[in-house]
Amino acid sequence: MFGLMQQQSLLISSLIDFAERHHGDGEVVSRRVEGDVHRYTWADVANRSRQLANALDGLRLMQGDRVATLAWNGYRHLEMYFGVSGSGRVLHTLNPRLHPDQVVWIANHAEDQILCFDMTFLPLVQAVHARCTTVKHWVALCDADKLPADTGIPNLTSYETLIGQQAKTYVWPQLDENSASSMCYTSGTTGNPKAALYSHRSTLLHAYAAALPDVMCISARDAILPVVPMFHVNAWGIPYSAAMTGAKLVFPGPALDGKSVYELIEAEKVTFAAGVPTVWQMLLGHMKPAHLKFSSLKRTVIGGSACPPAMINAFRDDYGVDVLHAWGMTEMSPLGTLCTLKNKHLSLPAEAQMKLRLKQGRAIFGVDMKIVNDAGETLPHDGKTYGDLLVKGPWIIREYFKQEGPPPLIDGWFPTGDVATIDEDGFMQITDRSKDVIKSGGEWISSIDIENIAMAHPDVAMAACIGMPHPKWDERPVVCVVKKPGSALSSAEMLKFYEGKTAKWQIPDDAIFVEAIPLGATGKMLKTKLREQLSGYKLPSL
Ligand code: AMP
Repeated sequence: MFGLMQQQSLLISSLIDFAERHHGDGEVVSRRVEGDVHRYTWADVANRSRQLANALDGLRLMQGDRVATLAWNGYRHLEMYFGVSGSGRVLHTLNPRLHPDQVVWIANHAEDQILCFDMTFLPLVQAVHARCTTVKHWVALCDADKLPADTGIPNLTSYETLIGQQAKTYVWPQLDENSASSMCYTSGTTGNPKAALYSHRSTLLHAYAAALPDVMCISARDAILPVVPMFHVNAWGIPYSAAMTGAKLVFPGPALDGKSVYELIEAEKVTFAAGVPTVWQMLLGHMKPAHLKFSSLKRTVIGGSACPPAMINAFRDDYGVDVLHAWGMTEMSPLGTLCTLKNKHLSLPAEAQMKLRLKQGRAIFGVDMKIVNDAGETLPHDGKTYGDLLVKGPWIIREYFKQEGPPPLIDGWFPTGDVATIDEDGFMQITDRSKDVIKSGGEWISSIDIENIAMAHPDVAMAACIGMPHPKWDERPVVCVVKKPGSALSSAEMLKFYEGKTAKWQIPDDAIFVEAIPLGATGKMLKTKLREQLSGYKLPSL
């Protein structure tokens, strides 16, 4: 027997319809690339999203076609979240911090039809446009009069020209809720980047979950500052949850330094902020010497890499702000766990509570987790035994877009690549990464990419790249090199070799020459052993 309830697809267009109808005068504030602060309302977001949808129809974009962005967090980017996905196209948020060659590879792999970019990225677009073979239209996210005449980019128009004359009415298509809505590439640790392709259904379920009290606790009383980029896993789903609840949104644009972020938090009475540890380090670094305090900020969600204990303490003890430690990944839309205490933990001494808060947290309803050993056997949740972390749920990928090779799932579970413990209360803690990517300032650096470049040098016999702890960036890459016999290669020459071959921030901080790289039984590099060998090593910048 079936239930007798109405059947209605879960669609992204319903989020913006709701925000307009019930929170039409709710504010959306953005610091723009130009430096000024722009403010308007959810009703304006809705009107301009519909204008964008009309413009995309005018360009004869088909359902499912990819519309790419290279953009900061801002109001036009937000309109694209709703106008592109709502009208049945797929929003592809490209990471502008990638090397131009990677941007080209990804745009071609995604078969992007339109690419919209903030003016900050004009030089990047000028460098790559001729190689992006599927892109038919280039759109600068600016006013018509801000567009220089001689960019050399064909079919370039300003966003305001594109949408300006369009009608503000539009009937959103009644899509199948399983239709693709947006996509985000994860920089693969081996081989090429891989894309998670989200659906309307997965996005809406994630938006509900993200707003729960034990998750980000998002409500109509919040003013939210997503510092986490909209080009990285949809800014952790915050734009969708904000529309679902009518929360005020505050976008920082490109100004992510401590002073700018602090001033925005205070001026816009931000109650909740989200970002990676590096950004918060810059914020606290600005506030402490100036003896500044927050007047409105209540909580901040920190994730993307492990949150240092000192940061949790500083936010709580010095500023009265609760830190919610979060874990997730691109393939998980991204939220998997949030660290909030249970009722029974409230009476624990502060030290015991702190021990829990440092963990990555408990599974959100919708995410199932288990840890397994090499044989795939499920391991106990005792807080001590660690194993490969597997997950499943309706906002976790089934396979990658244009998957090469077999799908990643193991008996229906997605292997995260993380190694973790889970305790009796379900608190998960990451102990290691099974792969050796390096996390710097919240972004991945693929150790394999760095090694491959070194190996391309004629004097290099072997190279291994590992992350070394860094107080500001979490980790910085160091490349360990075995020289070919008779070579006089210097450290400076090795590092210079990286210039132009990878993004600047991915270039290792140091090149260390070693006699040999330790190898395991199957010929794989033993990086754990290499790290042991370098235990007394200090980065040159420290
Ligand atoms: P990404 O897909 O770029 O978001 O990266 C996901 C990976 O970042 C996860 O698989 C973890 O290895 C790492 N990560 C994310 N959040 C945390 C956290 N709170 N603590 C430790 N590692 C994390």
